[in-house]
Amino acid sequence: MFRNVDAFKEAYLERLVNMHGKGVEETTPSDQYATLGAMVREYVSRNWITTNDQYRDKGEKQVYYLSMEFLLGKLLKSNLMNLGIRELCEQGLDELGIDLDRIEEQEPDAGLGNGGLGRLAADFLDSMASLRLPGHGCGIRYKYGLFEQKIIDGYQVEIPDYWLREGNVWELRKSDKAVEVRFGGRITSHEKNDQLTFVHEDYEPVLAVPYDMPIVGYRNQTVNSLRLWSAESAIKDFDFNQMNDHNYHRLIEYKKATEAISEFLYPDDSTEEGKRLRLKQQYFLVSANLQSILCRFKRMNNDLSELPNKVAIHTNDTHPVLAIPELMRLLMDQEGLGWDEAWSITKKTISYTNHTLMAEALERWSVDLMQALLPRIYMIIDEINERFCKTLWETYPGQWEKIHHMAIIADGYVNMANLAVVGSYSVNGVSKLHSNILKKELMKPFYEWEPHKFNNKTNGITHRRWLMYANPDLTSVITEAIGSTWLKNPSDLMNLQPLTNDPSLQQATAYVKRHNKERLSNHIADQYGISVDPDSIFDVQIKRMHAYKRQLLNVFHIMDLYRRIKENPKSRITPRTFIFGGKAAPSYHLAKSVVKLIHTIADVINNDQSINDQIKVVFIRNYGVSDSERIIPASDISEQISTASKEASGTGNMKFMMNGAVTIGTHDGANIEMAEAVGEDNIFLFGLKPNEVLSYYENGGYHAREMYNQDPRLKQILDQLMNGTFVKEDVDFKSIYYSLIDHDEFFVLKDFSAYIDTQQRIAKAYGDQKEWRRMSLHNIAHSGKFSSDRTIHEYASGIWQLEPVFI
Ligand SMILES: *Cc1c(COP(=O)(O)O)cnc(C)c1O
Repeated sequence: MFRNVDAFKEAYLERLVNMHGKGVEETTPSDQYATLGAMVREYVSRNWITTNDQYRDKGEKQVYYLSMEFLLGKLLKSNLMNLGIRELCEQGLDELGIDLDRIEEQEPDAGLGNGGLGRLAADFLDSMASLRLPGHGCGIRYKYGLFEQKIIDGYQVEIPDYWLREGNVWELRKSDKAVEVRFGGRITSHEKNDQLTFVHEDYEPVLAVPYDMPIVGYRNQTVNSLRLWSAESAIKDFDFNQMNDHNYHRLIEYKKATEAISEFLYPDDSTEEGKRLRLKQQYFLVSANLQSILCRFKRMNNDLSELPNKVAIHTNDTHPVLAIPELMRLLMDQEGLGWDEAWSITKKTISYTNHTLMAEALERWSVDLMQALLPRIYMIIDEINERFCKTLWETYPGQWEKIHHMAIIADGYVNMANLAVVGSYSVNGVSKLHSNILKKELMKPFYEWEPHKFNNKTNGITHRRWLMYANPDLTSVITEAIGSTWLKNPSDLMNLQPLTNDPSLQQATAYVKRHNKERLSNHIADQYGISVDPDSIFDVQIKRMHAYKRQLLNVFHIMDLYRRIKENPKSRITPRTFIFGGKAAPSYHLAKSVVKLIHTIADVINNDQSINDQIKVVFIRNYGVSDSERIIPASDISEQISTASKEASGTGNMKFMMNGAVTIGTHDGANIEMAEAVGEDNIFLFGLKPNEVLSYYENGGYHAREMYNQDPRLKQILDQLMNGTFVKEDVDFKSIYYSLIDHDEFFVLKDFSAYIDTQQRIAKAYGDQKEWRRMSLHNIAHSGKFSSDRTIHEYASGIWQLEPVFI
């Protein structure tokens, strides 16, 4: 059906009419999307089957990437492009009077993730399939994705995101592969032939039903899978004769509680009930996947000790780390292995990526909760802990504090990061800096104990989605300049390096940027009624709202710039458009007041005629993957200004770099490696170094109030949060004010002056357009190493021992 344009048109029209039961003219863009999606899904099914058959027949090792989040965004465009059939479809639809861009717009973003961690998982799937690696995603099919952000009077309001309303064209329900996951109940032990066996009784069964989505490789025959599990009630044949009022209500309650498991991404965990549900989700993910992985393995192998040679199980952060005790449980209770054998297999099968150093983000579960919800799993963790502490004791006799610190269970809590390190063979951080801090600070004793486990895998992004598909015009310009090898081999972007001073190439890239900025300006005018000048500098910070990411520093620069313009009405600056976007967690009050603050200053500045449109401030609501695909190609300046040592890697920074934006950033995460790649002259780094920040945390010596007293600019800005300049009657930014004056945990005031200076340097650099274009091209040329193809290649050879399979 995708052989040629005419065959496509015929097949499409027939499908369109049959599927929706109406005439072609009556079909909506949404109908048209559903039809094209269904055709593409069917088109890949042959290769999907072949891929699975080959993986099985060749008995190659496969990796299962376990993640609570997959922030996929839209898939139609990238599937069409990876398959190499988009042009054909575009032409055919055009001849039918249908606009393909418009159809692609209809697809809801699959927002099954919070931010960077979930998007990384999605980029990794794309790279694994494109590199012909046998790797699959394993996650949860949340009925509701991350909430939709509405802005009302400048405040964030959360609305449920029912992304499945019109169904999901990519998924296939596999009822025959459903498995049972068990919660609660109690464990009894019995002696059988000299062996202790454990029986789980009175548990609550939940049926886990997989939905598979195809993951299409770039111009190869590989189609991997993303398997998302849905929770359903496990009662198959209910006896209606037994049905009385009491039973009926119990059944309804049970059904509700069961389905809640795959209802929401990250339910509110500020309550006890919320925590319980989150732990249920984690075990649901892990148990369903491990049962299914083991089942598939056993169809081909009868020697369980072969498992680590055939299967790698990767845990994206600690959320799926219950995979360790669950694999132990299956190997012992179901397969009958002894502890030592099961432990040896488990430790050789599971690997773990750490994503954060922030103490409050390190997962801990109360022993009481875990014991009640997962009694057998808790017994196993307890045993792992006992054995581990015993060996520690033998090595470090008397060093109670050290052992307490390394213990998996301590003070009534299970420490998931400690369990992850003890039960896996590989622990990696996500940038050089982050991996080093892991070894030297957070996990120092573990590093000293088992140094061979620790390694670094600097994050990456798929250059297909983030450059080729999001910025097709830049892609053409690059390909005209250096040929097309970079499409498959992104490090070849380096061939741009000798051409960065080429006037015609500079002109071509400037033209593309300008065009992208016009498109974004139109979108902003259309959606927000704000007119922005495409010739102004587009200065962009889009990411989750969080204190450590320091949107406040950006806001303070805007407030300071506004003051300077007001004080010098005659002088003119290069006009700037400040663009923000990002969601705040529903219970994160400080982050939510920063959303309100941005809207408040935007309101004043955008409506102040006296500054002649020299600055504009725009907040893009409900920021998600599709927005970043629109915004990043139109950006001049990329804001990556987290407190040094806090951003493990960042991936937004890489997307901007690849699209020719110039970075203003701190010495944090992958910014440091970006600076190594382009040289300090082609990136604007500023502010405290990571070791300075860590030293302040350890030794004190920073007094925020002194900054306020010493710097009149800061004093004025902070006072403006409290007096009438920006603040209308009932708005209250006191919490922001006091969080800075009293404590300033993230060194906003400390870095303010260096940030302002650097913003002035960058404005000056922009004034020299020829130099700016060179710098922009230089950044693109060196961005190839931040493709997730490089990252996945390193995971495959350094952690998973995985070989490509040619389909
Ligand atoms: C890339 C991406 C992120 C991560 O951005 P950071 O700047 O690294 O925090 C978050 N959300 C979305 C939608 C993204 O595409």
